[in-house]
Amino acid sequence: MKKNCAVIGYGGQGSWHTRQILASDVVALSGIYDIDPNKSRLAEKNGIHAYKNVKELLADSSVDTVVIAVPNDCHKELVIKALEAGKNVICEKPVEMSVAALDEMLAAAHESGKLFTVHQNRRWDVDFLAMKQVVQSGEIGELINIESRVHGSRGIPSDWRCHKPYGGGMILDWGVHLIDQILQIIKEKIVGVYCTITHITTDEVDDGFSLSLYFESGKTAYIEVGTYNFLSMPRFYLQCKNGSAKIENWQEKAQVARLKAWNEKDVLPVQTAAGITKTMAPRDEITLDTYEIEKPLSDVHDFYRNFCAAVDGKDESAVKHEEVRRVMQVMEAAFASADHQQRLEVSI
Ligand code: NAD
Repeated sequence: MKKNCAVIGYGGQGSWHTRQILASDVVALSGIYDIDPNKSRLAEKNGIHAYKNVKELLADSSVDTVVIAVPNDCHKELVIKALEAGKNVICEKPVEMSVAALDEMLAAAHESGKLFTVHQNRRWDVDFLAMKQVVQSGEIGELINIESRVHGSRGIPSDWRCHKPYGGGMILDWGVHLIDQILQIIKEKIVGVYCTITHITTDEVDDGFSLSLYFESGKTAYIEVGTYNFLSMPRFYLQCKNGSAKIENWQEKAQVARLKAWNEKDVLPVQTAAGITKTMAPRDEITLDTYEIEKPLSDVHDFYRNFCAAVDGKDESAVKHEEVRRVMQVMEAAFASADHQQRLEVSI
């Protein structure tokens, strides 16, 4: 039988959840609650039941799962209330704004015995899955450095996202996804964090950032989010011991260059502005294989499928407490590094 979900928050992401749930083979929608009466009216116009308040929603015994899709500063209170009411909870990212606040939520989840997870839905993005596949297959050798970028050109959205008290800023908005993805690819202890942030369009929150993560074995990751980039750099760029890979943008396939032989007999120099160079000349097909990889298959409904299987004890939750806590630790370290303008030595 389908699990019955209620969604708190019927804005951009809450309404996305209702559409997902309505199209799902494993969950059903019992209704929504939004603090804004206009949003409740909109839901009803869309044929969705709107609860009068949180209390009424939580008192509905037919609801077994609550999805929290409200601005970031409201997550903790609603998550804890829903857990205490005996509901399973899916919380939108970023789960919270500090490790201390997250720990209160985790304690409530532990106490309730209910399933609590976070909607890290970008684990199902095909660009990320392609990069993960290239690294984990070992086809171009051990990873040296991975770069993950998202670039926009419209500044930070002018809603709650541009205000600090609501948990605005790009580290919490996009950083949380990109850090989570990197930690799924590199399963190693982080020993250093260095972050710089930008304030091009607003002083209140970070409207972009550059974050370097240093791992125990010497591997590195570089994450960059920009909202004032009128030309974009590749979504992913990967350097491995035996080749490179990149994805130009979300929609494109991964391009891979695999080294066949290190030594070259003849190198054709390339012309630069100041003269010729062999060092920077591209390799030819005698020493390099270049190919594209097919986009991995991915189904966004798998998030809810996994969630239901985990509730029934048939699978482990795809997004685990220790993983979301680690991402939160990295974000805290990133803010601290940017504040102190220095690399922080960490053990995360
Ligand atoms: P939004 O501003 O579009 O919608 C938020 C809604 O919450 C509004 O309708 C508002 O009236 C309502 N609300 C505010 N406080 C409330 C409260 N106390 N109780 C009930 N309703 C309340 O914002 P959004 O873009 O939908 O973002 C909501 C959450 O979803 C954020 O945490 C955001 O980070 C997350 N999000 C996740 C993704 C993703 O890809 N996983 C994408 C977008 C947003």
